[in-house]
Amino acid sequence: MKVSHWLIPLALATAWPIQSLQAQTQEASTQAPKLVVSIVVDQMRADYLTRFEDLYTGGIQTLMSEGESFINAHYSHAPTYTGPGHATIYTGTDPRFHGIIANDWYDASLKRSVYCVEDDQVAPVGSSSDAHRRSPKNIRSTTWTDELEWATQGKAKVIAFSIKDRGAICAAGHYGDAAYWIDSDAGFVSSSHYMDDLPKWMMRFNRSHDPSSYMTGSWDRLLDVSHYDALAGPDQSDFERVPKGAKSATFPYDLKAMQSAYNGAFKSTPAGNTLLVDAALVAVKAEGLGQDDITDVLAISFSATDYLGHAMGPRSQEVMDMYLRLDLDLKHLFESLDLLVGKGNYLVTFTADHGASDNPMQAKADGFPAELWAPADLEAELRVLMHLALIDNDKVLNLSNDQIYLSSREKDLAVAVRNAILVHPAIAEAWTWEEIRLSPDPYAQLRRNGSDKRSGQVFYALKPGHLAYGPTGTTHGSGYHYDSHVPLIFMGKAFNPQAMHNERAYIRDMAPTLSKVIGIASPSACTGNPLWVSPANK
Ligand SMILES: [Zn+2]
Repeated sequence: MKVSHWLIPLALATAWPIQSLQAQTQEASTQAPKLVVSIVVDQMRADYLTRFEDLYTGGIQTLMSEGESFINAHYSHAPTYTGPGHATIYTGTDPRFHGIIANDWYDASLKRSVYCVEDDQVAPVGSSSDAHRRSPKNIRSTTWTDELEWATQGKAKVIAFSIKDRGAICAAGHYGDAAYWIDSDAGFVSSSHYMDDLPKWMMRFNRSHDPSSYMTGSWDRLLDVSHYDALAGPDQSDFERVPKGAKSATFPYDLKAMQSAYNGAFKSTPAGNTLLVDAALVAVKAEGLGQDDITDVLAISFSATDYLGHAMGPRSQEVMDMYLRLDLDLKHLFESLDLLVGKGNYLVTFTADHGASDNPMQAKADGFPAELWAPADLEAELRVLMHLALIDNDKVLNLSNDQIYLSSREKDLAVAVRNAILVHPAIAEAWTWEEIRLSPDPYAQLRRNGSDKRSGQVFYALKPGHLAYGPTGTTHGSGYHYDSHVPLIFMGKAFNPQAMHNERAYIRDMAPTLSKVIGIASPSACTGNPLWVSPANK
């Protein structure tokens, strides 16, 4: 990390020397790996592991056969989005403490929506676009990667990659060396929070590995179509959206034509995953990750799975094929790390930031009682209900993230709003902010874990399988099983190969688990529990 960073957020730094000392006095962990490879697959439902299990031959197969699996791992917050999910993975706590309550949330004092990693105080690096003024300043906890930097006096190298800025920034945390994300024109970029200029190796990589250079030939199924018909259903479906730049939502895809029609097309194809692995491996070599006894971190958040998942839904041949190809990209990653870092010298964690729902119209066509609302229609209908309950429209500032922002914290107003919207047929339950603090209802607790002062004054949950979204593809955000249940696998010499745990585990447990294996303090606001017991204490 850069030395100057030690001086920047004083409010955070003043609390740290004590923790740093604690970390120093902890016994040196004999289990500490030379490199932690932290893999997050955006929108990967837990059933993508088991549904395609027989067809995985690469890195996912290795994780499933050589890793320690927690097959009932969940998020304990809602809404379940990319920003909150990644922040929870790295801080070991829920949004109510790390503060990333959504990707975007309404700020009543600014009278506008704010983005979770926006920061107009930093400059873009590698691009001149204001879209890359990004930093972790909104994250209210340290990450385990921050604690690793402190425990090693900044000697640990922490480098994070993603297509999405928030996918990389939550991993690199406040003190990591680098978070890199993608600009469709410029390639990998960063911000002045992390560096003044891109390193030479990254500039070279951007020149030689332009995203469009990955978009040649056609994308067709990896395996025979019969596998896809059996495990995903027919390729032609009314419930899939044509990916941006493509002509139809069916195989094969002309990648070059897609990319020339839309320069971000690569993000929704397997190329978006391959590009990240290629860049990550160049970083391992150029930065010498995993070459000494100080634990380094390589974090990769694969975003193409989310972009494609939103367009296609979980029952599409395209999503299935992307996972079969990600399996091969991960095989390449692990085989390369075996050579560069050494088998047994690196630890891999594998999870997702959230799952995804079935497409409600597809479920409905199968006879399941799901419903779909256009987001604008749902908001309009809820506003009508509030109006009919004589609630002054001026007092309703904003509806977002299944929350309603009101002009005051007045209890009677929140109760009136809650009662008014409860009659809507899409809504399963609604709570005032006071009620979610006290309710024993597990779904209210998910909302509580997902809230802080950045949240609204009334919360609601749609019925299971109900979405406010477009007619094709899918989304996520609820607290239901399909959004909360994600893969959780640890692979490395500290873990038991092939061990499989059925007990419920939480994604907030990942950070304290890694802190314990490495022998450092857990993140500052950590509320999770370690899932790992050191051999000496077994
Ligand atoms: Zn998403």
